[in-house]
Amino acid sequence: MTAVLPALALPAGGSPFAGADVCRHAGLTLPPGTRRPGFDDDLWDFTDVTGLPASMPLAVRRFDFTLVTSPRWRTVAKELIFAMLAPRHEAVALLPRAARIPVHLRTAYARLGEASRFLNWLAGQGVSSLGEVGSHHCETYLFHRRHVLDEHGTVVGERSPGTRRRAAQVIIDLLNYGELFTADRPDPSLRPWGGATATAVAEMPSGRGMNKTPPLSDDILRPMLAAALYLTAAVGPHAAILNQQVREADQQWGRSAPGEFARTSRAPAAEITRLLDRHRHDGVPLPMLPGYLVTERLAAGWAPGDPLLAVGLNTLARQAGISQFSLQWLTELRGPIEAAVSEVGVQEMFARDAALIGRADGQGQVPWTPPLHRLQAVALVGVARTAAAAVIAAVSGMRACELMELQVGCRLPLEEPLPGLARYRLAGKLVKGQPLGGTRDEWVVIEPAYQAAGLAGQLRDAPADGDLLFGRIAFNIRYKWFRNWVNGPSGQRLGLEPIPDYPVSLRALRRTLAIELAYRPGGVLAAKFQLKHIAAATTEGYASRPGGAQAELLAEVNQHESERNLALLWDEFRNYQNGIMPARPGARELTDFFAHVDEKLDPAEAPAAKVQRNDREIRSLLTKRASVLHLGTANYCWFTDPSRALCLRLAGDQAGDKPLIGMCDSARCPQATHHPCHRPVWAEHTESTKTFLGQLGRPQKTERKRLEAEYDRAVRVLARIDEAAASGEAE
Ligand code: SF4
Repeated sequence: MTAVLPALALPAGGSPFAGADVCRHAGLTLPPGTRRPGFDDDLWDFTDVTGLPASMPLAVRRFDFTLVTSPRWRTVAKELIFAMLAPRHEAVALLPRAARIPVHLRTAYARLGEASRFLNWLAGQGVSSLGEVGSHHCETYLFHRRHVLDEHGTVVGERSPGTRRRAAQVIIDLLNYGELFTADRPDPSLRPWGGATATAVAEMPSGRGMNKTPPLSDDILRPMLAAALYLTAAVGPHAAILNQQVREADQQWGRSAPGEFARTSRAPAAEITRLLDRHRHDGVPLPMLPGYLVTERLAAGWAPGDPLLAVGLNTLARQAGISQFSLQWLTELRGPIEAAVSEVGVQEMFARDAALIGRADGQGQVPWTPPLHRLQAVALVGVARTAAAAVIAAVSGMRACELMELQVGCRLPLEEPLPGLARYRLAGKLVKGQPLGGTRDEWVVIEPAYQAAGLAGQLRDAPADGDLLFGRIAFNIRYKWFRNWVNGPSGQRLGLEPIPDYPVSLRALRRTLAIELAYRPGGVLAAKFQLKHIAAATTEGYASRPGGAQAELLAEVNQHESERNLALLWDEFRNYQNGIMPARPGARELTDFFAHVDEKLDPAEAPAAKVQRNDREIRSLLTKRASVLHLGTANYCWFTDPSRALCLRLAGDQAGDKPLIGMCDSARCPQATHHPCHRPVWAEHTESTKTFLGQLGRPQKTERKRLEAEYDRAVRVLARIDEAAASGEAE
């Protein structure tokens, strides 16, 4: 039996918001002279609202109510969105279930999208009034939005919890704001899903699950960062000059001068001849057409062997001060142009005679780029910009919205808190969770990121302080272009290591940095500080979820750390089996342990499936040892016995249960080992100490003595690493 719905009492008169200025009621500021969206408009354009984040797409700033096909429900949608944007309006403030805080424009846009979808879906179901909507409509709509169907209506997948929440939320919103609607309204007694919240209906994980963004593995991050750093440091400065040249060429020859038009009657023989003479005199090749235009000429009937086929005649004309080259002139000008071509040839317009730079793989020097057509030059500048964005994001951990807020001139003056110790900072803006307009903040970065920010400014057209450094960029797409360039002939010519085909997002870079930071002593706190997580940690720690994300991050870091330690120990065990030994002081203890493991795996005692058994057994034997491994900058620390830890003895903290890596004296501690992987660090240390020694003056005797002792020690460690690796005996 169908219940008879009570007649809906719609108020007489129009909407309480009729004629209202949306921005004024929503507290949004528009520059003077900008058209202000009114409630009665079908399109609310918020494009110029002051303080909107740069990352907010233009499409999201325009609210198009004509998407709602029914005119009555269009008014409902307008009233709903207006009420969400202006909760203090006297008509909204009276509603008991209305939100009290205005929603962000981005949220309002998403709500409008879902409301349009729901209202149009209702119309498609034959529903003509919101009063007819019952629980079964709500359930059916949720099912409709929850599942992905194929062309036969069979369920083939499920959408995200976020989609489900939006679907449930729009129905709940229509009920919560129902009293306000003047054109149509839902039955106030409707209680879909027993009054549950949209989050509960959607079964949202509510942030209790693991972070879903996977960190980047080393085999992706390493070549990606190496290529980005090489591009910003070695290629970037040349790309900035190239960008300037392209801009100047565009201004000079890119378009017709005002009032200029192509002459078609008489060939400008004098001007063209003068120009050709100049080319011949200076030995400068004539401009070359890009391949796609050559193809167009061939399609238009040019002979493949025509010597002028690849000559950029229009560019030539503009260089001579004429707006456009008419093909009729060829009858008269072909001879002189062909003569010039045979003498100086044709060549791409940009990056002729490129400077030499060192290849990324150290295999000699090459021109930083071959000659380029205009579009190739613009693309190369774009690749350099992406490299700069990747470096900044990877080493700072900025979110996409924060990266896009960086401005030209964001590099703050260098600070030198201690002599010789520079602090590099970028001025930026936090957006997420901040009021409209964001909050100014600073990012402490390392030098390559600071230089990358400077380069990104130079790569902009006509950079001026305050302009956005990158603006709104789709990093994921740009990254693909960047990777294709590195993996293509251009990157290979420069000796860059190919980057595996795997999507890299700014989120993944941020997450990778978080885990990398959190590995270090006190790193969880450092990660939270660097990634501006302090407010979130405070909320979680002191309010509803003590230890929430911190504990999860820490647990995840510990898990990564254990796996990494096991992998390192496994490598060292294989080295031991291959006769590559660690060097002392703690080498003997480690090799005894490896010998013990080897003994246990006596092939005579192994069952038939030997390899599988060995791997499993080695893993279980190594796991315990891996748990005491700590990574020093230039050594491994096997922290098995605190009473033997030299760092703790030096710090007078015999009761400590963790090594003090910052005070590590690995050349003397019995728990330290040196391996071939530490050789580069010691070699560099030896070199730099030697350089410092060479710079000391006669009076600096104490310093000389100290450095000499350090140098001798580093040389000793190096020698022992080499001896142990070569002799097959632990030193
Ligand atoms: S001195 Fe170095 S190797 Fe020795 S316990 Fe401390 S951190 Fe570990």
